[in-house]
Amino acid sequence: MAKKSIADVNVAGKTVLMRVDFNVPLDDNSNVTDDRRVRMAVPSIKSVIDRGGKLILCSHLGRPEPGQDNSKESLKPAADVLATLLGKPVAFATDAVDADASAKVAALKDGDVLVLENLRFYKGEKKGDAAFAAKLAGFADIYCNDAFGTCHRTDASMVAVPQAMIGKPRVVGFLVQKEIQYLSDAIANPQRPFIAILGGAKVSDKINVIKNLLTICDKVLIGGAMAYTFSLAMGGKVGQSRVELDKVELAKELIQLGGSRLVLPTDTHCGDAFNSDCNKVVVKAGEIPDTFQGFDIGPATAAQYAQELKNAKTVVWNGPMGVFEMPPFDAGTRIVAEAIANSSATSIIGGGDSAAAIQQLGFADKVSHVSTGGGASLSMLEGQKFAAVELLDEA
Ligand code: AMP
Repeated sequence: MAKKSIADVNVAGKTVLMRVDFNVPLDDNSNVTDDRRVRMAVPSIKSVIDRGGKLILCSHLGRPEPGQDNSKESLKPAADVLATLLGKPVAFATDAVDADASAKVAALKDGDVLVLENLRFYKGEKKGDAAFAAKLAGFADIYCNDAFGTCHRTDASMVAVPQAMIGKPRVVGFLVQKEIQYLSDAIANPQRPFIAILGGAKVSDKINVIKNLLTICDKVLIGGAMAYTFSLAMGGKVGQSRVELDKVELAKELIQLGGSRLVLPTDTHCGDAFNSDCNKVVVKAGEIPDTFQGFDIGPATAAQYAQELKNAKTVVWNGPMGVFEMPPFDAGTRIVAEAIANSSATSIIGGGDSAAAIQQLGFADKVSHVSTGGGASLSMLEGQKFAAVELLDEA
């Protein structure tokens, strides 16, 4: 599924429309509080402008209501951050497809950058509207998708715009290229043993990920609160632990489906209140006292999982093993993260909380890939194909 990348097209003198993910957090004064998403897009951006392309950047930010006062969701602060990062002026259009955008697109010179106002200020973006898409498509000679976090969606800028640009180069940026390389290609042809380790709050969020990975992995190790729903399915006692009663039958099915490939915790670190100072006890899985709840995998499970990960050649991790935000219940997550960091396996960390955990624990640069997309990374691990990626040019 290798896709042609922005590096493969001649951009000199051409106008490139690049869909980026500038959905940055802003404070009450519209200051960007975390510029990571803008920073990560810089390699694709520089690839265009350093080779004399004219670059139009478009993105969504937040969830504005089209037609309302959306000044809090303007992309202007992100454009300003980009100008600082690039060390050169970045033009900003106060609309995305109307008079100001058209004028500023027409004024672009080779090597210039223009950021369009938030695409979600228009109803057509979420609706995948062809007329809205045609206006964006009409601005450019080349389309580039570097917005992995939105790749599982069918918004106009993701699907209808490249559809409207049939016959012109339609490529991926470096961020999307890397996500596909790991979340799709490495998983399709894994080196074995291939171990997945899945945790987090709910089974319901990850049913399809578990099902898909059970068909391709040698083992799927389970942790986090979702383990207690499996424990109930096996007739265990879970005390006050977080469970999904309506998913117990499904957990039974997954246990059947997985057989020995589905590995559940053998012990649990429990507390009697949701705080670090609570009374704590380590018990066997399925034997949690009535007044306690499971907050982490136990030490025996953590050691067993670390051993499995040590021997792996490919690892996918999604979801913490416990309440990693609340020591000492971060221990299981830390031991697993450390084992992944120290292994020579190709290691792929799903977006969201496991990405946050691996950053927080300081191991992010010791793994092969930390995905930037929460929902998109889960969908890819479910084995879903994304229309926004499928329709782009093959390498
Ligand atoms: P998710 O977004 O599904 O990956 O879930 C991540 C969240 O699950 C984190 O905020 C963890 O604190 C929480 N979590 C993990 N294990 C447990 C547990 N045993 N009890 C309660 N919350 C948990």
